[in-house]
Amino acid sequence: MSAAPARIRRLLVANRGEIALRIQRACRELGIEVCQVYSEADRDSLPVRLADQAVCIGPARAGESYLAGERVVEAALALRADAVHPGYGFLSENAAFAALCERRGLIFVGPPPAAIAAMGDKASARAIALAAGVPVTPGSTGVLASAAQAREVAGALGYPVLLKAVAGGGGRGMRVVASAGELEPQFDAARREAQAAFGDGTLYLEKYLSGIRHVEIQILSDGETVLHLGERDCSSQRRNQKLVEESPSPGLGAALREAMGEAAVRLCRQVGYRSAGTVECIVEPAAQRFYFMEMNTRVQVEHPVTECVTGIDIVKQQIRIAAGERLALRQADVRLHGHAIECRINAEDPAAGFAPSPGLLAAVHFPGGPGVRVDSHVQAGSVIGPHYDSLIAKLVCWGADRDEALARARRALAELRIEGVRTTAPFLARLLDSAEFRRGEVHTRFVETLLEEAAA
Ligand code: ADP
Ligand code: ADP
Ligand code: MG
Repeated sequence: MSAAPARIRRLLVANRGEIALRIQRACRELGIEVCQVYSEADRDSLPVRLADQAVCIGPARAGESYLAGERVVEAALALRADAVHPGYGFLSENAAFAALCERRGLIFVGPPPAAIAAMGDKASARAIALAAGVPVTPGSTGVLASAAQAREVAGALGYPVLLKAVAGGGGRGMRVVASAGELEPQFDAARREAQAAFGDGTLYLEKYLSGIRHVEIQILSDGETVLHLGERDCSSQRRNQKLVEESPSPGLGAALREAMGEAAVRLCRQVGYRSAGTVECIVEPAAQRFYFMEMNTRVQVEHPVTECVTGIDIVKQQIRIAAGERLALRQADVRLHGHAIECRINAEDPAAGFAPSPGLLAAVHFPGGPGVRVDSHVQAGSVIGPHYDSLIAKLVCWGADRDEALARARRALAELRIEGVRTTAPFLARLLDSAEFRRGEVHTRFVETLLEEAAA
């Protein structure tokens, strides 16, 4: 487990922010040299300063830098990197980019392009789940050709339904339709939005379920051995975007955990999955029933909670697998120990509808002490620009049980000091203090309820 992977001596990090630093840390521990790409906006960032080599690949606009696959590959070849790690977002779920890396002799740290493509289309992913015997959210069997077809499917399912873009992601590209009268205008609007946001207006639909939890299974596969690393509960969301994540889920019994883990493994085998990945599901807590929702074929923002409870370094495993190594772990080696909670600290103003709050960080103090891990790329003097995702830090707290993890998360949020921009930290403190969260009784609409109560 300690020897450096033979096929990867030098790795290019094709991302920015906290995940760039997270990947760099994994490389350091593996004895791999670190190359970092950056846009003009990130010239003075910590990942650039901490890399062995760094190269500017373009202007702030992501389309001309972090999303410009050709430029990333050129940089990797110029720096003589063996591998490219795409992190999350940007090029991470772009099958054409993964294929381009392979064609140019670079190892893509992620699954085979065919698995990315199969799972990247949400309608195709549902079909694969069904073929693997994994229950999917009730909905259309394939994509919707027209509003008329959508109306037919929705009528049979019963309202409300959720229109979803096959190419959607990041909590975007979804519309709830409450009744038949709303279907046609919503269908047209959703199609236009999806076309503009993802370059693909194709839609499908699902029954809109309420009182549900978002529970996802972390997977590690070397192509032969497929392991499940327990679950993360990401039910604390605002506008379908995650705010707080924890493991284990307070809503899952041992039998359901086992069933979901086995289903996720079957799904991975069905698509020839290799690498780290996440199978996202909806859970109905009362019935202890689950439905497949989508698969994310990359490392996720909230992967540290799983690292805390399993002791397994997911990013290092991902790099070793990409280097062609076999997993040294077996399912029996995966044991969950204690409880972990992650808070996403974003530069957003909760008092202004979570509007972005860019600016210069005048002061930064991160919490520490027992059970506290902070994944961040910022320090005093860092500038939070308007160009990218507003995530500035992840506070990940571990405890022997949920109560201790929660107490540490509250304590860590109180210690955190960030001056110069508004952050979500005060709102997250309120969220953790709510009676529902303390009881572990959250559902995916719970945060919105909390916000409505505060506004009333
Ligand atoms: P996770 O699924 O790891 O919890 P998020 O949903 O927060 O992560 O996504 C991580 C990052 O990737 C965010 O910046 C999000 O906006 C971006 N992202 C994820 N999927 C897509 C997509 N299909 N299109 C565009 N951006 C995406
Ligand atoms: P994304 O690719 O944007 O992450 P997902 O399909 O993972 O999209 O859905 C994001 C969130 O939307 C889920 O975590 C859940 O809260 C909500 N959601 C998705 N599907 C449904 C559904 N059928 N019923 C109710 N809520 C849903
Ligand atoms: Mg999702």
